[in-house]
Amino acid sequence: LLAASIALGEEEQQAIRAAVKWRNNITHYEVDLVADEVRENYLLIFEFLDSFHGEQFGGSLSEHIPDEHIQTAADLTEQFKREFIDFRGRTMHRAWVRKLVAAQRVPKLFLDGVAYERRAWGSELYWEQEYSNGFVPLPYCRDCAARVGELHGPGCCVEECPRENGQLFGCECDWEPSELWALDDDEWDEDAVDPTLNDADSSASSDT
Ligand SMILES: [Zn+2]
Ligand SMILES: [Zn+2]
Repeated sequence: LLAASIALGEEEQQAIRAAVKWRNNITHYEVDLVADEVRENYLLIFEFLDSFHGEQFGGSLSEHIPDEHIQTAADLTEQFKREFIDFRGRTMHRAWVRKLVAAQRVPKLFLDGVAYERRAWGSELYWEQEYSNGFVPLPYCRDCAARVGELHGPGCCVEECPRENGQLFGCECDWEPSELWALDDDEWDEDAVDPTLNDADSSASSDT
């Protein structure tokens, strides 16, 4: 799609990246797919397809949906509007905001009793490398939407392993149990979203 130089908005590119990441996870069997996560991603992709179709071909995708599925499509659109919010300039599931906040409460990971400081967005080692000269981190992490200086959300593919310097998500380290891992796969109370984090000036770490 990108090579075909169709103009994609940032949000659409994000949806594609999410879809690609999701697909890779499935094909590599790297994650336990929780039913909820499948549904969230499905909603996101459906909404993306609908708006993409609308922009490229005019008209809603719903016009091409057989009558017997119209109600399902309408329900999906409805659910999407209920569950996804605009957060830091992008569309994210509302439960994510809480996870991101909660992840700020886990500054360290432990292995064999040794503490390792997690690396906040923008303080990854590669920013120090020569090839990064002239580059600065985006205001928000492309995967988890952490602001520069904030810790990444649980399972973010950008977070560096503080021990091996590679990707933390799926790294080989035998980390001790941590709230961070729990956040990545537990069930969350989605009702208590903290909207104050949304571009409020105080970062999440300063109000806990
Ligand atoms: Zn991140
Ligand atoms: Zn590691």
